[in-house]
Parts: sequence; structure tokens; C-alpha cells
Amino acid sequence: MKLMDGKAASEKLKKEIAAEVAKLIDADIKAPHLVAVLVGDDPASQTYVNSKEKASHSVGITSSVYRLPAKTNEQELLDLVHFLNKDEEVDGFIVQLPLPKHINVERIINAIDYRKDVDGFHPMNVGKMVLGEPAMISATPQGILYLLKTYKIQTKGKNVVVLGRSNIVGTPMSILLSRKAEIGDATVTLCHSRTENLSKITQKADIIIAAIGQPEFLKADMVKEGAVIIDVGIHRVDDTTKEKGYRLTGDVAFDEVAKKASFITPVPGGVGPMTIAALLQNTLLAAKNNAK
Ligand code: NDP
Repeated sequence: MKLMDGKAASEKLKKEIAAEVAKLIDADIKAPHLVAVLVGDDPASQTYVNSKEKASHSVGITSSVYRLPAKTNEQELLDLVHFLNKDEEVDGFIVQLPLPKHINVERIINAIDYRKDVDGFHPMNVGKMVLGEPAMISATPQGILYLLKTYKIQTKGKNVVVLGRSNIVGTPMSILLSRKAEIGDATVTLCHSRTENLSKITQKADIIIAAIGQPEFLKADMVKEGAVIIDVGIHRVDDTTKEKGYRLTGDVAFDEVAKKASFITPVPGGVGPMTIAALLQNTLLAAKNNAK
């Protein structure tokens, strides 16, 4: 079994991004600017936004955060989105999810100028991705493609099973891997909560991408010998043996599945850092487009 080190791969990607940012600055083009909008005080969202800010600075991307109270209403958030759409200093922005329940997520995403939609969630970017046109691609699937490339994982002709069909991970992942592309050309099965005989499907997979949001769901008996396992899930589970009283785990029962896998991503240190690096890659792309 070989560990797919997302931390190392993301550092490599960030170096490439930093070199591109330096080239922009050398050409007298301003550094890319990324804005994050955070509504409410969800601790996980705060941690993600802090990590994104720190990572931006590490590659020379400037960033700022708009922190809005949880009681912010939909119109107030839409007003900020419209303001950011128009602000020429801003190359890209994200509205950190989840949003408070009284705000309609689709309405907010649809209001973002797709050219600044560095999360790649806007219907225009999703549509372009489906058609294979240049687009901002959702950061997590994009990061996974980079990880597969880094570890020279063959996807052509392989049976890939994607667990989970969310708009931000599972669905775009399934589309990207079935496209005609260097990291693509796979035969993809997309599974969800209504899938019957799930184990029978996963047992045939050469590559499994688990994004279902269920701690340690994928067990060793669901996986064939030598499979490649990408674990997108991230959960805090109580663990009294740990000083903090919890440990982080994914959607995969790592210890048992690792014994059968040829390659596997750890949690933490697998897909998470790749997601952030891919967000920076989209910000760079948005800045380059903006400078044209
Ligand atoms: P969602 O909750 O939006 O979607 C979960 C998907 O899994 C749904 O399609 C659901 O099916 C399916 N599902 C749930 N339970 C089962 C089951 N028992 N069997 C089969 N399918 C099931 O999740 P996300 O895609 O947003 O996130 C998935 C996980 O990845 C979460 O743990 C999240 O925290 C993590 N994540 C990590 C990121 C990172 O950077 N590392 C980035 C984004 C997410 P149905 O559609 O039928 O309801």
C-alpha cells in the first residue's frame, strides 16, 4: 500500500501557482485577489476560511474575508455578491458553505459572476465543465484529478465508483473522470443513498472515490485487492484515547481498507489540502482572465 500524500502534492501545486503569480507581478499585473464571504460562526467554516487565507498568502495571492452575522438576510448577502461582482480589485470570491437555513444557496450561487466563481459551483461553470470547455472546476474534484496525476494512477478504461452525488463533489467527479482526457476515459458508476447492492458495485471498482459524509463507511470487505481509494470525507469522531477527545476520520475505514488498497489517501492530509490548492489554481485562472 502506498499513501497518497495530499499535503506534499498540494505543496508542489502551490509552488507552481506561486511561480505563475510571480510572473504576473513581474509583468506589472497586480497579484490575484481572493475574497471569502463567511456568514455566521460555524467553527468548521471558520477553520476552512482561515486555511484558505493562509494558503493564499503562501503563494502571493492577496485575500480578504467578509464576516457577516448569522442573522444576515438573503438580500443583504445578494447585495454583497453584486458588489463583489463589480469590484475590479476582486478576481475571485467564494461564499463559504453551509449557509444559514434561511438563505437560499442556489440563489446566492446563481448571483455570482461565473468568471469570479472560483468554487466552480455556478451553473455556467458546471455546464462548461460538462461540455469540456475551459471552466472553473469545483475545487475538490479538481484537486483529486491532480492527486491522481501526481501518483500516475491510470484511469483510462478503469472501473471507477464514485460514492455520493453532491453537486460539489460526487457529480462533477463522475463527469470529469468519464470525459475524454488524460485523467479521464474511465467507466464511472455514480452511487448514492438509493443504490442497491452497493458492496457488489464497489467490489468491482479499480478506483473508489468516497464522498458520502458517513464516517468510516467503506469497509475492507467492500473493496477489491489492489484498488485505489480516495477518501473525501472528513469527520470529527469522539476518541477518549486522544488528548483533544476526538480524532479526524474520513468516509473510509482506513486501517482495514489500507491493507487491501494499492494507493489510499489519509484523513487528514489527503484530499483536504488538494481542495485548497485547487481553489488557488482557480483564483489564478480568474486573475489571468481578468487581466486580458
Ligand atoms: P453531501 O451530504 O452533499 O452528499 C452526500 C452524498 O452521499 C449524497 O449523494 C447521498 O445520497 C450519498 N450518501 C449518503 N449516505 C449514503 C449511503 N449510506 N450510501 C450511499 N450513498 C450515500 O456531501 P458532500 O459531497 O458535500 O460531502 C461528502 C463528504 O466529503 C463530507 O464528509 C464532507 O465533509 C466532505 N468534504 C470534504 C472536502 C475536502 O476538501 N476534503 C470538500 C467537500 C466535502 P443522496 O443524494 O441519495 O442523498
